[in-house]
Amino acid sequence: MFSALYDTLRAPLTALLRHGTPWNCPEFPISTRTEEALHALRRDVRTHPMTTEILLQNAAEQRMASHVGRYYPVVPVYATSICAEGCLYCNYRRENHEGVERVRLTDDQLEHEMRFLVHVEGHRVLELVYSSDPGVSAGDIARHLRIARRVLDEAGGGVTSVNGPSLDEEGYRLLAQQDTGFVALWQETYDRERYGLLHPPPGVKCNFENRLDAFDRMFRAGIRRVGMGVLSGLADWRWDWGMLLLHEEYMERTYGTGPAVLGIPRLKHAPGADRIDGYTPTDLEFRYAVAVHQDCRPDCYPFVNTREDWGLCMDLARGGGCLFTFNCSTIPGGYTRRHRGAQFVSHDFGGPLFRSAANASGLRSALPWQEQEGEPAATAPGSGPRG
Ligand code: SF4
Repeated sequence: MFSALYDTLRAPLTALLRHGTPWNCPEFPISTRTEEALHALRRDVRTHPMTTEILLQNAAEQRMASHVGRYYPVVPVYATSICAEGCLYCNYRRENHEGVERVRLTDDQLEHEMRFLVHVEGHRVLELVYSSDPGVSAGDIARHLRIARRVLDEAGGGVTSVNGPSLDEEGYRLLAQQDTGFVALWQETYDRERYGLLHPPPGVKCNFENRLDAFDRMFRAGIRRVGMGVLSGLADWRWDWGMLLLHEEYMERTYGTGPAVLGIPRLKHAPGADRIDGYTPTDLEFRYAVAVHQDCRPDCYPFVNTREDWGLCMDLARGGGCLFTFNCSTIPGGYTRRHRGAQFVSHDFGGPLFRSAANASGLRSALPWQEQEGEPAATAPGSGPRG
């Protein structure tokens, strides 16, 4: 399990990021590409913005050569906003009463949301999203996945995915038995001290080691396509991205494959949440970190999301090879039931206008979503990003 290795990796990672010391950890030697990526993270991009822009442009051109601007449009479908956890940065934390409506959708209500998104909006990749709701079991999530599969198949096919609480191995086994594109979980931060401060007990999430080992449990349960990532802005972002790269190397070595999807949420202040300042990477630093990761793991798809404004999303997506969220409601029933509130403040790039804007930037949907607008499908329905 990765938690058994974590303490061993801390000192060599700190020495490399602070002083440029070559990787020195006999218990865990790393590949050349990972070490190069770790050294690249040290770069102070603020002092060389023009050089960094050229570097980012080159990275985008490489992605264009490999992915021809193709992206996968994904739409989140929140199933519940009831949460037993106390993450200080989140509107849904258990103590918060500001700007939140606690909702757990019934199966019928959830299916209604999915039908609207698939049959009316034309989406083909559904991301089922869950808070840590004690009233929602792994069996419930598996049942929701079957509903999503049925709704998508009626429309010709598509991809289901899950982003929810960390589960035990048995719970992940239930998800592995469904036809699921990927299962995602963000580590939030790899800094154990910051993690402890930001995730107070009680609950499951306060257990740092348990969360670190969730990805081992996924693979042991038979899930082969996982999404990993950190919430940039909770701790020193270089250290978080560095430990993420090491975690991915561990996964690849242990299970034969790294993550299929890279989560790239960046902290935005949420109503009713504590204000956390001083750790969030600038736009340039953030884009640079994503590019460094993509250079190291070109087969891993960054999940460009509506926490960021349109301009930054376009910068992150340049060249393609990513997942991309256009429509985004972070409240259960937010698309059809007009429930109030949001887990965090986000944009919503709905409608043909933004699809056309993406086209104008050289991006093309890799799923038949845009057939409505006269564009041919790039790949067969049901195909998804693969790691
Ligand atoms: S981040 Fe997730 S687990 Fe934490 S309070 Fe928000 S919804 Fe709950």
